[in-house]
Amino acid sequence: MTPRVVVHSGRAKPFYGRHPWVFVGAVQRTEGEAADGAEVDLVSHTGAFIARGLYNGRSKVRVRLYSWQDGEALDDEFLRARLRNAVALRRDLGLMQPDGACRLVNSEGDGLSGLTVDRYCDWLSVQFTGLGLAERRERIAELLAELVPCAGIYLRTEKGIGQLEGLSLSDGPLRGGTPPPLTIVETGMRFMVNLAEGQKTGYYLDQRDNRLAAARLLVGRRVLDAFCYSGGFGLRARQHGAVEVIGIDGSEAALSLARENAALNHLDGLTYVKADVFDELDRRVKNRERFGAVVLDPPKFARAKSGVEEALRGYRRLLSLAVRLVEPGGYVVMCCCSGRVTSEQIEELMAQTAADQRRDIQLIERRGAAGDHPVSVSCPESHYLKCLIARVG
Ligand code: SAH
Repeated sequence: MTPRVVVHSGRAKPFYGRHPWVFVGAVQRTEGEAADGAEVDLVSHTGAFIARGLYNGRSKVRVRLYSWQDGEALDDEFLRARLRNAVALRRDLGLMQPDGACRLVNSEGDGLSGLTVDRYCDWLSVQFTGLGLAERRERIAELLAELVPCAGIYLRTEKGIGQLEGLSLSDGPLRGGTPPPLTIVETGMRFMVNLAEGQKTGYYLDQRDNRLAAARLLVGRRVLDAFCYSGGFGLRARQHGAVEVIGIDGSEAALSLARENAALNHLDGLTYVKADVFDELDRRVKNRERFGAVVLDPPKFARAKSGVEEALRGYRRLLSLAVRLVEPGGYVVMCCCSGRVTSEQIEELMAQTAADQRRDIQLIERRGAAGDHPVSVSCPESHYLKCLIARVG
């Protein structure tokens, strides 16, 4: 019999609501031998079936839920169906061209909590944030290779995840060898992606549409692209007719990628500066510099609920500097990829900044990640990326 995890009375509501994370505090007891990574049934305190998931006694997320159908096994057939469904969405979105790139599987957003797969041309990059699916990685690689013929599949690991989940994985090939540096085509522009050594899984695919949306407003402007990584926002803006772009990042490796990308797209007028963004913006404020737009795309500031207050202070500081640097009628593009921080909280910071600096701020667009990063309505935390485009008076 499948082991059962019993939830405390009064704590079952989110799971009936199809939220996939069962934190340890919601668990009353476990019946039967639940091994780490094994299938378990989540049941109410009266013993009624709620959902089927994978157990991990070493994680605060004691069970990750995958099926709300009583008796459905989380076997190969199940995995194949979920993966096929994920690939079908990317086909619908027109994102399966051979030289393109997209997020193929977006964890909770695709009903596969703990699994992220990106496709760069004919290579796949796979990342696990949960032990259950990580233990099934060989099968998942096989199923992926069946669904999306590819040259190879490379495993990337995120720092810190090993400890949170009791996972011991390291970067390396799951299928094929080590991927060479690749050049992807994204809406008509070319970008270098180093899948084995780049940040995250190699490139920030989630900002694809936001870069375009911002670029449309930045024609003829001088743009400060803060936290630029491989240059996405600034390069797109320059291609659309921004007159000058200054990219700032703390990583030399990121900046050299950005320079290569500029050359690859035959774009000039871009300067890259290695600096801490906070210091660099501060220095430019003191110099009384002004720009037509400032893009802020910082890394995740809040990893857990406890980090939200500090993260908000960081976002507030960035906004305050950016607004000072923007000329009247210019734009601030504020991105936030902390799942724990809401769009409303960022908007509240904008309101405070407007009051502090006595400037009008108009919200032009409230955006999220591109469509290949679907958000599960049952798991609001999967709406991690916010991109607010604001006009400063
Ligand atoms: N805008 C990019 C993605 C940014 S990722 C794109 O469109 O692809 C965040 C970047 O911030 C990383 O490249 C990281 O090196 C950089 N970074 C993080 N903290 C920083 C800091 N304090 N100062 C400068 N760069 C920083």
